[in-house]
Amino acid sequence: MARVDTIVLGAGIVGTSVAVHLAKRGVSVALVERGGPGEGTSYGNTGIIEGNTVFPATFPQSFGALLRVALKQAPEANYHWSFLPTVAPWLLAFRAASRPERLVETAQAMRPLFARAVAEHEALSAEAGSANYLRHNGWLKLYRSDDSFAGTRRERDLAAKFGIANVPLDRDGALALEPSLKPVFRHAVHWTGAVSVTNPLALTRAYAARYTAIGGLSFKGDARSLHRADPYWRVETASGPLDAGDVVVALGPWAPDLLKPLGIRLPLAVKRGYHRHYRPLGNAGLSRPILDVDNGYCLAPMEQGIRLTTGAEFAARDAAPTPVQFGRLMPAARGLFDLGEPVEPQPWMGSRPCFADSRPVIGRAPGQRGLWLAYGHGHWGLSLGPVTGRLIAEMMTGVTPFCDPQPYGAERFTR
Ligand SMILES: Cc1cc2nc3c(=O)[nH]c(=O)nc-3n(C[C@H](O)[C@H](O)[C@H](O)COP(=O)(O)OP(=O)(O)OC[C@H]3O[C@@H](n4cnc5c(N)ncnc54)[C@H](O)[C@@H]3O)c2cc1C
Repeated sequence: MARVDTIVLGAGIVGTSVAVHLAKRGVSVALVERGGPGEGTSYGNTGIIEGNTVFPATFPQSFGALLRVALKQAPEANYHWSFLPTVAPWLLAFRAASRPERLVETAQAMRPLFARAVAEHEALSAEAGSANYLRHNGWLKLYRSDDSFAGTRRERDLAAKFGIANVPLDRDGALALEPSLKPVFRHAVHWTGAVSVTNPLALTRAYAARYTAIGGLSFKGDARSLHRADPYWRVETASGPLDAGDVVVALGPWAPDLLKPLGIRLPLAVKRGYHRHYRPLGNAGLSRPILDVDNGYCLAPMEQGIRLTTGAEFAARDAAPTPVQFGRLMPAARGLFDLGEPVEPQPWMGSRPCFADSRPVIGRAPGQRGLWLAYGHGHWGLSLGPVTGRLIAEMMTGVTPFCDPQPYGAERFTR
């Protein structure tokens, strides 16, 4: 029987970062994962470390935008009819959280995490020898109309208050940064402080290797085997049972599989998303990620090619993939950049684990001694993995946390 201080369940970017931060503080840690580190949701993202984030994604703000989604014409969103009754309460909560005053609250609540997102990756990458995967030239949001650019006013005003650097550009200014783009847009905003990753899988693997190098243990196992073996928690692994006084659940979109049987029902939904790599035509290239705001997709230069990532799909996590958004957005994408042949035969699909208030849950699980939660990072799990690792490790080791963790507590749903 192996025994450690803390078991971390799930080796995505969040769980791996939590494990490293605990191990660095002298805690004996076992990281339990059914696959390999970083092969879940953390594999397929756009690779942007978004320290610049101000407002979260919102419920469609105009009747026209909602109608386009409802009629399945919007490139940025899709849904399965059969899933609507299940997700309806979450969508109503999401709509309420999209009110202007709530967006400002969210921006303020999340600022401490975003403000440290880049620095925590840089620090961990310096230790892990993975700084070569980080690109320090920001990201670029493109606007095809004057109206959509005008819509950024509130966000940029608040960014100025928070001291977040951004540079509004006209078309020529943006083309000077990214000469391979076609001039089909009118405005851009360059968020200069963001960092991007050339291979998110390799980055998580590097953090996992660092964890091993400082003495962290890793096991193959099914997190759902977690049960009480008083006074400990026990999980069954391929190497036998493993006990610990504390357990951190970092299972991303799979967290409810473990938590529901334990009686912890937090209102998580998933926003599924897809990616596919394309070979650029000729000598076209990108030097940083691009968001085509009016068409709701990103193009990100990765080691594997240009990674095109899609917006949200509301569907059951395990339902068969329906990558219909590619059909809706490819004309716009090909009009913006010379995308050649796809690299893979089929798109990759992942599930962003999202709470309607666009905040993760970081802290103690309600009603279960020794159980901790670190999941629900939605659109920003790559960005916030290392800072989450720091915060929860500080909470668990009795150090004064670098920020007030109260906005991320599970109690906000159970009160
Ligand atoms: C298309 C797309 C684009 C995105 N772009 C960005 C971006 O640019 N920037 C950003 O910050 N974020 C982005 N995200 C979000 C980000 O990828 C996620 O928030 C993040 O990966 C979540 O990390 P995680 O560690 O919580 O979950 P995961 O990476 O899913 O890790 C959970 C782990 O738990 C393991 N697991 C599950 N069940 C079990 C079990 N029963 N037993 C053992 N192990 C189990 C899984 O195998 C997995 O490895 C994007 C997401 C998508 C889908």
